[in-house]
Amino acid sequence: MIKCLIIGSGPAGYTAAIYASRANLAPVLYEGIQPGGQLTITTEVENFPGYPNGISGTAMMDDLKAQAVRFGADVRRGIATACDFSEKPYKVTIDGKTEIAAETVIIATGASAKYLGLPDEQKYIGLGVSACATCDGFFYRRKVVAVVGGGDSACEEAIYLAGLASKVYLIVRKNYLRASQIMQDRVMKHPNIEVLFNTNTLGLFGEECVEGAHLVRTTAGKAEKFDIAINGFFLAIGHKPNSDIFKPYLELDEQGYIKTTWGTTRTNIPGIFAAGDVADSNYRQAVVAAGMGCVAAIEAERYLNQ
Ligand code: NDP
Repeated sequence: MIKCLIIGSGPAGYTAAIYASRANLAPVLYEGIQPGGQLTITTEVENFPGYPNGISGTAMMDDLKAQAVRFGADVRRGIATACDFSEKPYKVTIDGKTEIAAETVIIATGASAKYLGLPDEQKYIGLGVSACATCDGFFYRRKVVAVVGGGDSACEEAIYLAGLASKVYLIVRKNYLRASQIMQDRVMKHPNIEVLFNTNTLGLFGEECVEGAHLVRTTAGKAEKFDIAINGFFLAIGHKPNSDIFKPYLELDEQGYIKTTWGTTRTNIPGIFAAGDVADSNYRQAVVAAGMGCVAAIEAERYLNQ
């Protein structure tokens, strides 16, 4: 029987682990599919307070893990594959075989990259299609790539890739970028980036790997189809919360984010808390996730003391 089970190893999970360890809850944390979470596949983190010169996402997550382990958190490899929250103690199955019984559960499973849903995306996965520029950008040195999306992630990926590739197309479906002004400015000023506004992707082509994309640009109601020659096609169109296994028990919003009582991390089941991107459709920032992890651990401690 575990007092406090934490699922997920992003800023929310590790911050919860730091606080829960220091409160003597002897937390066990399962790292999930992507140990360290989304920040391990980003480049520089420039907006986390306390790092005036920025820090690499991986280094930051290594530090957070070390801090949690220092206070006694039991960090384990494993993926939560099922749960039973119908009665206490709550049960979570790890890797389809190990069942963990816990008095409290902090869900910090984050969110995963979305794909456009084109059949070609799956066909060319690993053969030119990627949702992680930092992971795969290296393969596209001096080649031509495209990034889809108009938010901060897309701009960040485009800028990162522009440092490796000879040219980057940024495919934006609207006539403006949604990214923060500083990122927009960097993209618009970069000599290697060409922004294709009002443009959608119809499909990809190529013998074995991606060799190009079929696009359509719609301006003033007129659609114009055209092709671009590319070697890599990167998706940066947002994320889907990793909440599927909790659906039978927890209230989710229409996008799948776990609903919490406003201003808390409490879900509809007492003793089950949700922190970070899996419960935050609004801000989705590392610092907010860390704050939510802190709140979840304090709430778990108070719940156990009641
Ligand atoms: P966002 O939801 O902010 O942006 C998604 C982008 O993808 C939008 O431009 C959207 O277009 C586009 N898009 C969505 N679906 C499709 C589709 N089917 N076809 C084409 N385009 C599509 O996601 P991000 O991942 O960029 O950012 C998430 C959060 O994380 C934000 O709050 C962001 O500020 C933050 N973030 C901050 C960073 C930083 O500060 N350094 C870095 C990365 C993320 P449309 O605008 O038309 O809806």
